[in-house]
Amino acid sequence: MTKRVLVVEDNELNLKLFCDLLKAHGFEPDPVRDARDALARAQDARPDLIIMDIQMPHINGLDLIAAVRSDDALGATPIMAVTAYAGKGDEDRIREAGADAFVSKPITLARFVQSVEDLSALADRRMPG
Ligand code: MN
Repeated sequence: MTKRVLVVEDNELNLKLFCDLLKAHGFEPDPVRDARDALARAQDARPDLIIMDIQMPHINGLDLIAAVRSDDALGATPIMAVTAYAGKGDEDRIREAGADAFVSKPITLARFVQSVEDLSALADRRMPG
């Protein structure tokens, strides 16, 4: 089954890069450019995985991750945060918000793809069928 990946990213170049990478590795990306649309889109589309930028206008990615985690229908969805931060404090905050993985920007292709594959396996364990 092709997994659908909600990609929430305000930067158009990053959004295209992430979606191209996902397609090239057999995933079906669902791009969201405006963080304000992300929760409703997730509730509507029920993605298998979510890739979440952290620094976005209007809504912080950390708050969105927490909102996904507290949603009954979406709560188990694996989430990968993508962020320009590098510090340990930032990683802790991202994990406390409920992210399963994070990849720092600028991404390396291998790390990004490996992390998506890991999350895909996590989705199979967490949300069988
Ligand atoms: Mn951003």
